[in-house]
Amino acid sequence: MIAEIISIGDELTSGVRLDTNTQAISLRLGDIGIKVHFHTTVGDTLADNIAAFRIAAARADIVIASGGLGPTADDLTREAISEAFECPLEFRDEAMRHIESLFAQRKRPMPERNRVQAMFPRGSKIIDNPHGTAPGIDLAVTTSMPEGTMKQCRIFALPGVPAEMLEMLEHTVEKRLCEEMGAGQDRWRFHSLKLFGIGESDVEQLLPNLIARDRDPRVGITVSKATITLRIAAQTATESEFQSLIQPTIDEVRGTLGQLIFGEGEVELHQAVHRLLADRKLRLGLLEVGAGCWIAPMMSQEQDGGRFGLRVADWSASERELHSRLSISTTFPTPDEAAITNGSQDTIPSSHALLTDTLKRAAESMLKERDIDAVLAVGTYPTLEEVTRGVGLPHTDFTMCLAVAGKPPVSTTISIGGHPEVLYHRLAKSALNFLRLELSRA
Ligand code: AMP
Ligand code: MG
Repeated sequence: MIAEIISIGDELTSGVRLDTNTQAISLRLGDIGIKVHFHTTVGDTLADNIAAFRIAAARADIVIASGGLGPTADDLTREAISEAFECPLEFRDEAMRHIESLFAQRKRPMPERNRVQAMFPRGSKIIDNPHGTAPGIDLAVTTSMPEGTMKQCRIFALPGVPAEMLEMLEHTVEKRLCEEMGAGQDRWRFHSLKLFGIGESDVEQLLPNLIARDRDPRVGITVSKATITLRIAAQTATESEFQSLIQPTIDEVRGTLGQLIFGEGEVELHQAVHRLLADRKLRLGLLEVGAGCWIAPMMSQEQDGGRFGLRVADWSASERELHSRLSISTTFPTPDEAAITNGSQDTIPSSHALLTDTLKRAAESMLKERDIDAVLAVGTYPTLEEVTRGVGLPHTDFTMCLAVAGKPPVSTTISIGGHPEVLYHRLAKSALNFLRLELSRA
């Protein structure tokens, strides 16, 4: 069964208001096993609405629309459905009584305009709206297709107010879909594998059969802020059926991508690292030099920390709130300050070799001075402030160093670039991933 969602309103097409109804409806339909193939957003124009409904009825089995059922002149859904499917509007007493009773409860006279909300396309059923004056429309239509066949479609039109829409969807529409259209047997279920340190095209190359559209379970690949999510999807009646269906896929992906996978489910990289530190009972110190200072905010869940120049003092408040595992967070805007603060004024790094040396020594001294088990020290050369100020694509060498008590510090330098908004995330996540891999190795 294929569904289409239609969202109606100029406030949506203009971008003034975010269309949250489409997301909510799609998720709920997925839960009862109905696959949504189309999302349509249309403004408050009658001709466009008529076209949208006709197109949807010709390609989907179920159409769920929201918006345009109010009493004002820009509310055109009733009229659009009536014209699109040649079902004249007729007055329904039952709906009128409900609207009148709502106004009576609110102790307000009912404006004449609200009578229009009691008008329904011939042959349609009412969808009760317990908390609003706009009842919904439930209409089964038949469209004659160009190839001469007839196509059935069930149209549900709901008001735009998200709370009312959702209540009616849950209480009435879903019930009718399950009882009258056989939905709800199998539901769509999802499981995610999270990866870092590989490009999406590399994943596809390594696992060429994975992303095939006719595969069951299906695997989708998305990238957000340098993290790749492999989303495994299948329609099953039970969770255990789903688990057995997806296990071979998980095994195949794990077998090929191994350590690139940092977690399963809705886990983020910093949470995976937190977990690893907790499991090993390690307290970590952080030293970020000219690298945008994103790791500490990420690790302490303070996602909106500033990009530059977070200093020790700025951190005192959050430091207190930090998990005991993350004992110290020290960030410096420039390598010079790191060198100075660590008592080596003579070592102002002018290349990444010097930066590596500074980071190692700073990490080791931090490890000695504070009561912690490991120090992750990172730095960019040139600093991000410098590269993002320049023209062109920001590009820098990024050095990551880990000092663990009783062992010589290890370090690596990678060349890294990209859009500034992604670059900061990529730097922080590269560092956390370096930490994760080094700790897993130990
Ligand atoms: P309407 O039913 O078109 O009169 O819409 C009533 C209210 O619901 C307005 O404030 C709209 O902005 C809001 N609304 C309508 N459609 C949506 C949607 N798809 N997502 C979120 N809000 C919506
Ligand atoms: Mg509207």
